Amino acid sequence: MSQANAKDAEPHVIACDVLVAGAGSAGLSAAHAFAAQGRKVVIVGKIETHLAGRTVALFEGSLRFYRALGLWPRCAAHAAPMEGIRMIDDTGSIFPTSPKEFRSREIDLDAFGENIENNALVAELAQAARENPAITLIEDLIDFFELNFSGARARLASGGRIEAQFIVAGEGRNSQARQIAGITVQTWSYPQIALTALLAHDKPHHNISTEFHKRSGPFTFVPLRGREGAPHRSSLVWLVSPRDALRLQALPPNMLAAEIEDESHGLLGSIRLDDPLGAFPMGAMKTSRVTGTRMALIGESAHLFPPIGAQGLNLSLRDIANLVDCLEGVNLDEPDEIARALETYERQRARDIGLRINGVDILNRSLLIHALPVDFARAFALTFFSAFGPLRRALMREGVTPHGPTPKLMRARPPVRRPAAREA
Ligand SMILES: Cc1cc2nc3c(=O)[nH]c(=O)nc-3n(C[C@H](O)[C@H](O)[C@H](O)COP(=O)(O)OP(=O)(O)OC[C@H]3O[C@@H](n4cnc5c(N)ncnc54)[C@H](O)[C@@H]3O)c2cc1C
Repeated sequence: MSQANAKDAEPHVIACDVLVAGAGSAGLSAAHAFAAQGRKVVIVGKIETHLAGRTVALFEGSLRFYRALGLWPRCAAHAAPMEGIRMIDDTGSIFPTSPKEFRSREIDLDAFGENIENNALVAELAQAARENPAITLIEDLIDFFELNFSGARARLASGGRIEAQFIVAGEGRNSQARQIAGITVQTWSYPQIALTALLAHDKPHHNISTEFHKRSGPFTFVPLRGREGAPHRSSLVWLVSPRDALRLQALPPNMLAAEIEDESHGLLGSIRLDDPLGAFPMGAMKTSRVTGTRMALIGESAHLFPPIGAQGLNLSLRDIANLVDCLEGVNLDEPDEIARALETYERQRARDIGLRINGVDILNRSLLIHALPVDFARAFALTFFSAFGPLRRALMREGVTPHGPTPKLMRARPPVRRPAAREA
């Protein structure tokens, strides 16, 4: 069901139903979701597969999204399951909490989700887009957008033009489409850098993700799929002060590995760096709206926060699944129908996005602020939530499949149980 108008007479003009701006993980995922809805999709962006040390933990709702689109089988070969999440208070607070461990079986799931290297995910989504006849992937940049009631237009940096009925803005935190739509943002930064690394280690991770809560922020190991010569692998996200980041980045790999071993109290045994160290300054962003005329924001164009609780891309996939539902059956030639669909999207996304930005902000600041009442409140909350079965399970479910209306692409049931874990 393509609604695109033929523009064959005009050279260098490509017409489509949906233009996705930005080919990061969110943009590529949106292109697949709209193609599956029967839209003719053009996606514009450079395929970037050189992010150092970065992985994404995708929770059950996100896996359902990729399974529903037939994309998970090709990604699964790069992913490792997370069957447990362990939290260890390493703040040195005078209100220490004992380590807490949450198991996916407690909420009837094989795993909370799967952890995959960012570069592998983007490469697989891009390759699947190239193979999909409903998607045209243009590896270029957009240097101008025009949004009005009659249609949306974009100009490519290389000179061509795209005419679309609808624009999905997925160009990340500096989204130009967002600026052109007049959507304002509130941004702030944290005195933290996220250091990221892929590690090989001696001891198995047993498919458990371990989060040490430190004064500089979380230090988190997430299971990675083993490979030949390195059966035990994990990714690390380590939030440190800018000064410590400079010091750690200057260390030779063996000394850095030794510091990581010390920080983790030898949990994974001897450690070796498997990839260059990545460094990402931490900030957050709220937008005044997530919609404009014939346009919606998704992913980091719509929200930004530190990687605590692995929420970023998971939230972005809910943006996309939600937007697809809102536009289902909508005639993109009809501006009023689009406007009504976007009102629904605006309303439905506000709570989920607000909850994640504020929740991550509170948790992060509770580690950064050295104050007894804050330490007490954090320790009390963690002990309280983990001690009571129904609350504990509600907390786990909120992390993997948040409550509220579940978009169609995230409704599928999980597959049958796997017979064995696959670390090695
Ligand atoms: C250290 C770290 C760990 C993380 N871990 C997790 C995790 O475990 N789980 C999770 O869910 N999330 C995680 N996240 C968040 C997740 O990685 C991001 O949400 C996700 O990568 C953002 O994807 P995006 O497509 O929205 O933005 P981006 O990846 O920034 O993609 C935007 C793309 O648009 C392109 N672009 C920009 N301008 C234009 C233009 N004019 N024309 C065309 N293209 C343009 C850019 O070049 C870029 O390729 C983590 C983030 C960090 C920093």
